[in-house]
Formats: sequence, C-alpha cells, structure tokens
Amino acid sequence: MAEPLEAQARLDEIVRQIAANMVAEVCSLYVLRADGILELYATQGLNPGSVHLAQLRLGEGLVGTIAATARALNLQDAQKHPAFTYLPETGEEIFYSFMGVPILRAGRTLGVLVVQNKEKRIYRDEETEALETVAMVVAEMIAAGSLEGLSRPGVVLDLSRPVHFEGLALADGIGLGHVILHEPRVVVTNLFNEDAEAEVARLEKAVSSLRISIEDMLQRRDMAAEGEHRAVLEAYRMFAHDRGWVRRLEEAVRNGLTAEASVEKVQNDMRARMMHASDPFLRERLHDFDDLANRLLRQLMGRDGDMFGDGVAGDVVIVARSMGAAELLDYRREQIRGLVLEEGGATSHVVIVARALGIPVVGQAKGAVSMAEKGDAIIVDGEEGAVHLRPPADVEKVFVERVQFRAKRQQRYQALRDVPARTRDGQDVALLMNAGLLVDLPQVEAAGAAGIGLFRTELQFMIASTMPKTSDQERLYSAVLDAADGKPVTFRTLDVGGDKVLPYLHQSPEENPALGYRALRLALDRPGLMRTQLRALLKASAGRELRVMFPMVTDLEELRQARDLISREFKHLTRFAHAMPRRLKLGAMIEVPSLLFQLDELMQLVDFVSIGSNDLFQFFCAVDRGNAQISGRFDDLSSPFMRALREILDAGQRHSVSVTLCGEMAGRPLSAMALIGLGFRSISMTSSAIGPVKAMLLELDAEDLHRTITAHLAERHPRQTFRQMLEDYAQAHAIPH
Ligand code: PEP
Ligand code: MG
Repeated sequence: MAEPLEAQARLDEIVRQIAANMVAEVCSLYVLRADGILELYATQGLNPGSVHLAQLRLGEGLVGTIAATARALNLQDAQKHPAFTYLPETGEEIFYSFMGVPILRAGRTLGVLVVQNKEKRIYRDEETEALETVAMVVAEMIAAGSLEGLSRPGVVLDLSRPVHFEGLALADGIGLGHVILHEPRVVVTNLFNEDAEAEVARLEKAVSSLRISIEDMLQRRDMAAEGEHRAVLEAYRMFAHDRGWVRRLEEAVRNGLTAEASVEKVQNDMRARMMHASDPFLRERLHDFDDLANRLLRQLMGRDGDMFGDGVAGDVVIVARSMGAAELLDYRREQIRGLVLEEGGATSHVVIVARALGIPVVGQAKGAVSMAEKGDAIIVDGEEGAVHLRPPADVEKVFVERVQFRAKRQQRYQALRDVPARTRDGQDVALLMNAGLLVDLPQVEAAGAAGIGLFRTELQFMIASTMPKTSDQERLYSAVLDAADGKPVTFRTLDVGGDKVLPYLHQSPEENPALGYRALRLALDRPGLMRTQLRALLKASAGRELRVMFPMVTDLEELRQARDLISREFKHLTRFAHAMPRRLKLGAMIEVPSLLFQLDELMQLVDFVSIGSNDLFQFFCAVDRGNAQISGRFDDLSSPFMRALREILDAGQRHSVSVTLCGEMAGRPLSAMALIGLGFRSISMTSSAIGPVKAMLLELDAEDLHRTITAHLAERHPRQTFRQMLEDYAQAHAIPH
C-alpha cells in the first residue's frame, strides 16, 4: 500500500496481491458512480479489457446486491444465487465460488471488492475479515479523491455526487461555504499492527480511559439531575462495558489490525448491520455507538476535541448530528456561514443562539453527517429548509444570486435605519426588538430599534449548563441597559417550563407541558429563583428606568404576588443603601385568554401590558405552536383574533396603559400592517424584521387602513377573509409586504 504508484497501478497491484494471498483466481474491484452504476476499476483474472467497461446497476447481480445491502456475500455456487447475472465481457462463467464485501466508509457504500474461484470452496471468516480490511484502505483512497479521473471523462464517483437534503428551516438566511464536521471522523491511516499483544494492551487502556471519562461526565454536578443528557451518558456507559463489543475489537486486533483500525472496522460492521434496521430505537442506538467509537478513536490517537482541526480556511458550514449552544460559540463567528443539524428543532438552544448570531440553520437533515466530507462545498438554505451538498455549478449560481439579492435588500433596509418609523399620515410607531443574549445587543444599534420590547431572560439560563449566579445575571442585565443607551428595555422574568427546559432544574414529565408547571406558576412556587433574578434586575438598573413584566399571567392574584415579591426586594435593597432604579414600571404579558375577560381589573394593576401573541394564539385556538402538522392550520390574521386584540387595545386606552405586542406576528410585514391598522403604536420583533416592517409602514396610511379594518370586523358575513382583505389592500396601495 505504501508503494509510490499511480492510482490505477496501485489498484491493479491491490487486486493482484489479494488474489495471490487468498489463492483466488479472480479479484475485482468495483467503484460506485454518482449515476448508481458500479464500474469495474481493476481486476486480476477477468478479462483485462473489461476494466472501466463492465458495469452493473446498484441492486443488479451479486455485486449490485452487495452494494445495495451493504452486506458481504459468501457463496459456494454463485450461479445458483437468484441475483446472479452474467456479464459476457468479463468471461466469469467458469467461476463457482464467490465472495464479495462492500467498501464502506462512515456508513456509505463506495464500491465492492470481490474474489472468485473456479472450484467450489467456502471462504473462511478470516478471509472475509481480511478482504473487509483491504476494503477499508480502498475506501480511504476513494474518499481522498485519488481515483477521480480513472474513468471516462465526465464520470463522477458516488462520493462526489451532489446531494440535496430537505429539512426544517430553523434560522433564516442563505449560506455558502465548505463543510466542517462538528465531531470530525477520525481518519485511520495506520492499519496493520506489528505486535498484536502490545496493541491489545493499548486498546484496553483506551477502553478503560473511555469508561473513566464517561464516569467523570456522569459525576459532574450539572449532570446530576435526571434528563436527556444523563440518559444518553448512561447508554454510553452501558455500551462501553458491552463485552461483545470489546471482544470484537480485540479479535480484530488479533487478526492483525491496529487498535484504531479495529475500532473503525467493528463500527463499519455494526453500521452495515444496523443501518437497515427499521426500529427507530435501534437506529438511535447506532448513533450512540458511532459517537462512542469516535470518542474511542480520539482516545487512541490522543486527540480530544480539536475544533477546527487542521482548519478549513474561508467560509465554513458546520455539519453536526446535534450540538450544544456553548459549542457553537467555540467556533470563529466570522467564518461560519451556516449550520446543518441532523436533529434539532426550532427551540433547540443551539438554534436560538444561531438565530441571534444571524447564522442560517437547517435541522432534521437526516444523513448529512455521513454524506458530507470535510471541505465539500455546501449550501444552507434557511429560507426553504434545504441543504445542497456538493452543488452543481448551476445550483450554486442561483444561490450566489440569491445571496446578492438578500444583501442588496439588506442594504436598502440599512438605508432606512435612521428614517423615523412614521406612517404616511404621520403616526409614529415604536419598532422595538426582541432579545435574550449578549450576542443580540449590537443589533439595537445596527437595526435602529426603538428599544428592547422583550428581553427573554430565560435564554441565559437555557444555554448555561449550571444555574447562572446572581452576579452573572446582574452583569448581563447591566450590559443590556448599556447597549440600549437610554432606550427603553422590558425585561421578562424567567419563562421556563413547557418547551423551555433547564437541564439543571428538575422537572417531572408532564402530559401537557405548555399548559403545565411553567413560567410565573413555577416562579411563584419557588420564590428563591425569582427573588434572585429581581434583585439582579434592580441592582443592574441603578439610576435608570427598570421595566419588568411577568409571563403567562393567568389570574390576577398571581400578579399581585409577583408585585409583592418585587416590592419586598426593593425594600430589602433600599435598607442596605443600594442605588435603586430611577423608576420602576411593572407589566404583564397577555398570553392566556382568561385575561381577556378581566381586562379592566388587569389594567388597574399594571403600568403596561405586552401581548405574547405566540402563546395567546396557541391557547386561543388550542393549537400547539411547536407542532408543524397543525401550527399553520389556523390563521392569526383572522377576525376573531383581531377582535380579541382590539379589546385589549381599547381596555389599555380606557386606563391609559400602554399596549405592545411582542410575538412573531409583529415581525411579518403584512401582520404588522394589520396591527398598526388596528391601533397598535408599539410592536416588538426579531431585529432582522425591523427593516422590512419599516419599509412597509413608510408607505402606509394608518387611518385609512383603520377604517377598512373596522368596517371588515363589523361585518357578519364578509365576502373575503381578513387576510385576503389585507393582501388586497396592500396590493392596491403598493405597500411592500
Ligand atoms: C409569546 O408567547 O408570544 C412570546 C413573545 O413569548 P415566547 O415566544 O417567548 O413564549
Ligand atoms: Mg410566550
């Protein structure tokens, strides 16, 4: 293998040596092309003229069957096998025995390696093992690109085939770059051991370090709570002690492999066997085994977690099975153009952070990790939820144009940054932004936000692995107020529970977490948590205005209790002569429909209200906001919901209490138009929506739309839906939406 030969000569030498060593008359190597054809790349024993000419489709013949199933075949009488097909050009009819193994890499089949004999014989297990080992070497050659160009011009190998994945659009934007595998597969180059016993000892040492490192992780304080992390680690622990696994590893070493190569080989076998399992539990376990094997390889090679490794320069797209939020922050932000996850949903923490950083994300891209190679060209389409791996030139061109289009549009919005947010008929509207992390803060200035209408304090808690200390909280809040530079900031107290899970906060499983023990309910039962937070907020706002609001208020009694808590903290701090906020304003989020029927009483208790339309709509229509199957079923731009919002505005007006809306709808230009038409003069949205919403409102005559909306909502049987009416209105008045 180490001889300095040209690629074809090397393949020829490989098949010659296998044939000689295994006493086989034939040894042939087939490589899978992008068009699903297995092409004969080298042979000893078959007609040499058929090299690069003999072809089989995936699934066709014995070779095609091996490739399609990723499993070896060992046959005494090949011609009796139902899949046998005869390729006249090769002259193989005289061979009875046949053994073929798939050439596998990271769970993908790249080709097939075959030996044949004239007489009927059974190949021994050691021979299968030996052939599989050589197949690993060939797999690395293929992956390294050294076989490109051996075939007819224009033929592309399967490994470099363009692949397109459909996933979930989790963070908007389009990114082009080159693949970085988050947990890089370790490439094993040293395959054969010199001293099996020494190698077994090395393997055993690595396995026991692996076991210790898993124990360490399990012992860590932040892992002490029950939860997913712990369950995964416990599965790892079980596998790391699996005797069958360790025995197979040792066997492979005794058969001549290095410890690294044996890990790779046993993992390949396992993948090949489990890949086709339809049981999702088994497939999930396969992932765990993959992770474990990777960890073991890193132990063996003394490489623990090198992030950029030997580095891919320029623009990168991170491809990962899953990832922690903190891990994303370990990468160099300037280089990252996108993130592709095999798992992950809209509320995964890493997605929240990526969104805040403006990194496009596609989730649920199944198979991306095994299909992608480091350095491959890749496009992440966070608009449509698609990933294009190794895109053809025409696809790439389309995306380059889309990126340019978006950049131009961004420039146009940028140009509006300092233009006052005033409608054509002179109504000022406060366009506020939603935030939650330090990384959001530069956007206050960059997007020209009028302030922060919703600061989601739970995000700091969600991305940390342990409970943030009061001092950490205080530091963040103070940085937020500094960044806002006098513009109003509304902090929302911890909104955890439901889908917002804190790994270190023990919570029992609930049947309906969205309706469960969450937000203010939890905070009032565990006042310690909320008191610390309120104290941090009060201290951070010394000498400035502090606006605090409470999430998921359902009953006014909860609000009274929350107010009592804050006034107690206020008194406590005053007693110790702490500098206090210049002014304190308290508000409630309207997210639960019960408040709609006690608006007058509510308004008497608060300085302001903010409508959390995501939750309010979820409860209004009994439609789970996180369930893609139904979340688009009902329309928030519809008369009943609009009437509910108007009730809130009217009540606010009666009591001179300001009303804001901070759900996602505020950031969609058409919905924002409806809100302004309805009477809202303050809305809060993700920072990237401020430009598009401002572009819309600059063209809007709010009073005129108000009349149209009022008329529509008064009709019993309107001829159009509310949304349709709005679309027509925007169209007729040339309002960008
Ligand atoms: C809402 O519910 O609309 C809201 C703004 O809060 P969150 O999305 O954080 O639940
Ligand atoms: Mg909410």
